[in-house]
Amino acid sequence: MVSRALLINPSIYDFAAYSFWSSPLGLLYIGGILRANDMEVNLIDCMQIVERKRKVDGRAPFVKEKVESPPALKHIRKRFKRYGISRDALIRKLGESKEPDIILITSIMTYWYLGVKEALEAARHVFPSSKIIIGGIYPSLCSAHADRTLREADLIIKNSEIEKFYGFVENAFDKKLTYKPSLYDLDHIPYPCYDLYKTIPFVPLLTSFGCMYRCAYCATPYMHPGIVRRSPGSVIEEVRHWHELGVSRYVLYDDNFLYKNEVYAKPLLKKICSLPFQIDIYNPNAMNGALIDDELAHLLRGAGFREIRIGLESADPVVQKSTGSKISLKHFEKSVTALIDGGFKNNEIVAYILAGLPNQRWEEVKQSIDYVLGIGIQPYIAEYTPIPHTRLFDEYGQCARFPIWEDPIYQNNALFPFAWEGFSEKDLEYLKLYARDKRFPEHTNKE
Ligand code: SF4
Repeated sequence: MVSRALLINPSIYDFAAYSFWSSPLGLLYIGGILRANDMEVNLIDCMQIVERKRKVDGRAPFVKEKVESPPALKHIRKRFKRYGISRDALIRKLGESKEPDIILITSIMTYWYLGVKEALEAARHVFPSSKIIIGGIYPSLCSAHADRTLREADLIIKNSEIEKFYGFVENAFDKKLTYKPSLYDLDHIPYPCYDLYKTIPFVPLLTSFGCMYRCAYCATPYMHPGIVRRSPGSVIEEVRHWHELGVSRYVLYDDNFLYKNEVYAKPLLKKICSLPFQIDIYNPNAMNGALIDDELAHLLRGAGFREIRIGLESADPVVQKSTGSKISLKHFEKSVTALIDGGFKNNEIVAYILAGLPNQRWEEVKQSIDYVLGIGIQPYIAEYTPIPHTRLFDEYGQCARFPIWEDPIYQNNALFPFAWEGFSEKDLEYLKLYARDKRFPEHTNKE
C-alpha cells in the first residue's frame, strides 16, 4: 500500500538565476492532496537560498556554483552555473530519507530540464524500487522531448493530467485514493504544504487560473484554456491559516488577478484591508494596468502591496497590437496616475518592457524605456523567452539563431535566440545597463 511520498524541487542549470519569490507551488499543492489521502509527505527542495542575503521583501539569491557547460552550449561564451545543491548533496539527502513509495519531481522552465534529469537519476540511483513521477511546465510544453529525456521515470504528466496521476497511483499500489480533486477546485483543495519548510519566508496565494487575453508570446492560454477563479473568502481563510504560522509576506503569481475585479479582486482586497493584522504582498508577474481604476489602486495599497508591477511590453502601438493589445498608452498612463493617487510612490511602480522579440529593433526598446522614465516610474526589461505552443514560437521559431524547436535548452532567454543585426547582444547589454542605471537602487537585482 502506498503510504510515503517524497517531493523534489530540482536544482537548475543556467547562466543566471535569482529567487524572485520563486517556489514550487504546484508540487506543494500535490503534496497537500496526498496528505489528504493519509500519506506521509516529505520534501527535498534543492533550490537552497543564501539566507543571509535575503532581502527585507523576501527575494534572495540561490546558492550557486560554476559548472562545465553541456555539449549543446559549449560554443556560448558565458559562465554556466548550477543554482541549488549539487547532485552529490542531493544523493546524500535522499540517503537520509525514509524510502518513499512514490517520488514526485517538478519542473519549471523548459530549458532547465538538465536539473530535472539529474534529480531523476539521483532518485533512481538511491531508490531503485520507488515509482518516480515527473510533472510541471517542461513536460507540459515539450512532451515529446521530456519523454525522450526522462525515460527512467515511471510516469510523466502534463499539468492538466491530474486524473492520469491518480489512476497511476491507484494501479501501481492497488489502492483506492479517497480524495481526488481537480486542481482547478481552488476553493476546496488543501493548502500547499509549506509547513514542510523549517521557516516560511513567503507564501504564494493562488487565486485564479487562466487569462482572458491571448498574448502572442505567452503559454498561459495553452496551459489553462479556461478561466477559474477562487472565492475571496477562501483566499482570506488561507491568509489566516498562514498568519497563524507566522507568515507575513504573500506573493501573487496569478496571470490575470484583476479580471472581473468587481467580483473577485476588489472584494478580496477589501477583506484583506479589514484583517486585524497587516500583510505584505508582491506581484512578480505583472498586472494588467488597463484594469486598474482609482478604487482598485487604493485597495491594492491598503491591502499591503509594497510595489506594483505592470506589463507595458512596448510604448510602440504597433508592437503592442502585434503582441496582444492588452493595454494602450492612454490606459497605461491612467493606471499610473491612479496608482500614485492611491498612495504608491513612483519608485514602487515598475513597468515591464519586452526585449528580444523576433525582428525587434533595439531603438524601439530604448524608446519604451525613455517613455516609462518620462512618466516617472521604473522601467524593467523582460527578456523575451520563446515558449512552445505560443503564436510567436510557431511563426518565428525556425528563424531563431539556435534550434529552439529541437532542444529546449536553446529556449533560454539568456541566449538571446532572436538577436540580429538590428538588435545585437551588445545592444541588449547597453539597454539593460541603461535601464538599470536609471532605476532606483532597490529595484536593481544583480545576481
Ligand atoms: S501575457 Fe499575461 S495578459 Fe497576456 S495572455 Fe499571458 S497571462 Fe494573459
